[in-house]
Amino acid sequence: MNQLPRPVLLLDVDGPLNPCHARPEVRPAGYRPHRAEPVWACGASVEVWLDEAHGERLRALPFDLVWATTWQDCANRWIGPVLGLPPLPFVALPGPAVWRPDDTSPKTWAIVSWAAGRPFAWVDDDIGEADRAYVAAQHPGPALLHRVHPGRGLVETDFEVLATWARRLGR
Ligand SMILES: [Mg+2]
Repeated sequence: MNQLPRPVLLLDVDGPLNPCHARPEVRPAGYRPHRAEPVWACGASVEVWLDEAHGERLRALPFDLVWATTWQDCANRWIGPVLGLPPLPFVALPGPAVWRPDDTSPKTWAIVSWAAGRPFAWVDDDIGEADRAYVAAQHPGPALLHRVHPGRGLVETDFEVLATWARRLGR
């Protein structure tokens, strides 16, 4: 029997790991502020709130971790080390001029293309019905599109959903 390859967990930064829509004075428990200077900030310093415990939780999941974020490779410099994650591959995202289906996230086409049929779970705060429809139509393998609230970030139930989904794949 052919066994499916180990699934990929595609990770967004702003929303799931950095609860950027939380009110500044009411950040979720466990998060601490960090400064970062990603390329997209054009030399400016930005503040991100990260929960250092997330790294261990993510590494314990039966997935290969991959960044799917506008931070792209900058996540390996500014986010991964805080969480204790090794350098991870990242999905190269298209510029605004690249074609994408109407109403899908700018990431959706790039993720489906990158995955090339491999099972994946995608964790993001910006997943909508158009993204689900596009993945269902274009991605031949199993896929879980899991939306995380950007005011809350990843919580226990999110990790449980991911682990349960992977278990159903035989992981
Ligand atoms: Mg996001």
